[in-house]
Amino acid sequence: MKKYDVGIDLGGTKVLCAIVEKNINNNLPQRKVIFEVKKKTKKEKGNKKITSKLFEAIDELFEISNIKQEEIDSIGIAIAGQIERKSGTVVNACNLEIKNLEIKKILEQKYSIKTNVFNDVEAAAIGELILGAGKNHNDILCVFIGTGIGSSIIINKKIYRGISGSAGEIGHIIVDLNGRSCSCGAVGCLEAYASRSAIESRIQGAIKKGRKSIITELTESQHISTKHIKQALDAHDEITTQYVNEAIEYLSGGLASAINFFNPELIILGGGLIQGIDEIYLKTVRLAKAKALRIASEKTEFKKAELKDYSAVIGATLTEEYNNAF
Ligand SMILES: [Zn+2]
Repeated sequence: MKKYDVGIDLGGTKVLCAIVEKNINNNLPQRKVIFEVKKKTKKEKGNKKITSKLFEAIDELFEISNIKQEEIDSIGIAIAGQIERKSGTVVNACNLEIKNLEIKKILEQKYSIKTNVFNDVEAAAIGELILGAGKNHNDILCVFIGTGIGSSIIINKKIYRGISGSAGEIGHIIVDLNGRSCSCGAVGCLEAYASRSAIESRIQGAIKKGRKSIITELTESQHISTKHIKQALDAHDEITTQYVNEAIEYLSGGLASAINFFNPELIILGGGLIQGIDEIYLKTVRLAKAKALRIASEKTEFKKAELKDYSAVIGATLTEEYNNAF
């Protein structure tokens, strides 16, 4: 086994590429990110532009790390979209406007390194299950709240995928029958109320209607990031506080439903909004427990994702461990 893997997390707004060092300690796998390159993908959309952005990031990673392609065991890429696992094709990724992209084939041809393709939430869940907050647990729900809301269901240490491989789409449970439109085409999905982009569009809508917010100065009319939301909350900005609280109400309601329905041992919360704003994590957990049935929530534990921004990057390098370990 070679010493390094490349882990890639291709999300809706950024691509994170990392050299991951592999070790084994007491028969347990260990992973450490030793070099990383992060690039924004906000402007690049579509198969061609995303592919060249990926090449650019990977090439830069080899350059800054001084590690050669021959020293890399495998590439693991986690993508925010629907994946066909065997062929390593991205069937559809709405936020990136990708359709039928044969990413495994493309990366293997370019770098001559074996490539594994994952859905980003699935990779992050594998990372957390093997090396993060889920290490000593069996039945887990991992929920990641960022640009969108995704989740992965783990039963007896195995990811439950469902008949078409799409299980865990908690972002698209319907919380309002006559509600807002969602990027999936349906109406009233949780993601349209509780994701970072939902908070962003609510704040922007209010500003357009003439309400004043510190966000206008913070962002200089660019998009509203988690960092901006945090700064505005700290400054007690009225609009931001209102829409963050609204998002927490919906998110905790969705999680309470999940607790009642699945009664998991552990819920791991991760993603930009959770990692970046402690207040959101703490309030969401408190309210979700309070809203769920007592018998269901009594024993369900909550934890924050421990691998932080690296859950998916590291998880995407753990294929063998995941397949062999349990
Ligand atoms: Zn939806």
